[in-house]
Amino acid sequence: MNNRFFFLLFACVGIGAMSCGEAPKDNQFYSLDDYDKVLKYDVHVHISSDKPYFVEQSKKENFKLVTVNVNAGEPIVEQREYAIHQVEAFPEQVKYATTFDVAGWDDKDWQAKTLAYLDESFKKGAIGVKVWKNIGMELKDKNGKFVMIDDPRFDTIFDFIEKNNKTLIAHIGEPKNCWLPIEEMTVKNDRDYFSNHPQYHMYLHPEYPSYEDQINARDRMLEKHPHLRVSGAHMASLEWSVDELAKRLDKFPNLAVDMAERISHLQYQSARDFQKVYDFIIKYQDQLLYGTDLSTSDDRDSAKVMQYMHDFRFGHWRYFVTDEMMEAPEVEGQFKALRLPKEVVDKIYRKNAEKWFPAFTEDKGVARQ
Ligand SMILES: [Zn+2]
Repeated sequence: MNNRFFFLLFACVGIGAMSCGEAPKDNQFYSLDDYDKVLKYDVHVHISSDKPYFVEQSKKENFKLVTVNVNAGEPIVEQREYAIHQVEAFPEQVKYATTFDVAGWDDKDWQAKTLAYLDESFKKGAIGVKVWKNIGMELKDKNGKFVMIDDPRFDTIFDFIEKNNKTLIAHIGEPKNCWLPIEEMTVKNDRDYFSNHPQYHMYLHPEYPSYEDQINARDRMLEKHPHLRVSGAHMASLEWSVDELAKRLDKFPNLAVDMAERISHLQYQSARDFQKVYDFIIKYQDQLLYGTDLSTSDDRDSAKVMQYMHDFRFGHWRYFVTDEMMEAPEVEGQFKALRLPKEVVDKIYRKNAEKWFPAFTEDKGVARQ
């Protein structure tokens, strides 16, 4: 649901003697040529269309997908129908995460209705449930108070998700940049977005809960649900500091984070301290998930979407597997790519996804009722 970076393209600046397509001598590492050959998962996409090209392009690039419903934009039932359509059309390739509506929060039957919707979604094949930043940043109760993600009324919902062995995808809060003045923001995409959308620029809205309020509420929610499998979307809104992220990954072993639309923040940090980011990824290789936030809807130009999908994801592969000097449109200056060992790349792109979304390897069938 985050299309603001749609037309940005990754650029590679190859330096040194090794050309882009050349296989590395050492078989501990992948090369650019391996991109299509290695099975990968993109655990954070949004397909709001019945058209097949998004999945077909992903299949060509050897990606399986989790398409995620969000409590924003189109009605969630329609989003779920699109998702089910894609799962039925590509049962090996696609699974989906449902969501629930927070409208009617103050109604007595909100909880019962929400549980019923989730139950129905699970019977219709959902493997996870997404909660979105409207919790913490938009939803207010009848007294005009912001509802935060650690509100006790969510506990029953999270228990239900856990009991059904599903995964919670939690996009809570925003990048820390959202609470900073434009000139202090670290990456260009955030500067552009918040310049153009002052209504979402929290630095201008001190009456809203702070960045710390969002993070603390999320952490308290995780403390209450230690056995719930959680994928923290967008690096759990701790994209700005691998140190801060490390603290949570240490504390919450059932928390993994997806990197969707936040790889530029890793690149920004690696431009300043390559070793720190490299060591972080090696240490937390079991709790990192590859995701993009790529999306499509019926009105998009399919050729453009497919080209962008490929270029965007291939740029990430370049960052993770090569040791080239690179540039990305979001990040000022150059940075060195990480050249992670194969086993780490396999975890980020595949094995961790199979752990956090076990339905991919456990059940083969489609579950529409
Ligand atoms: Zn998203």
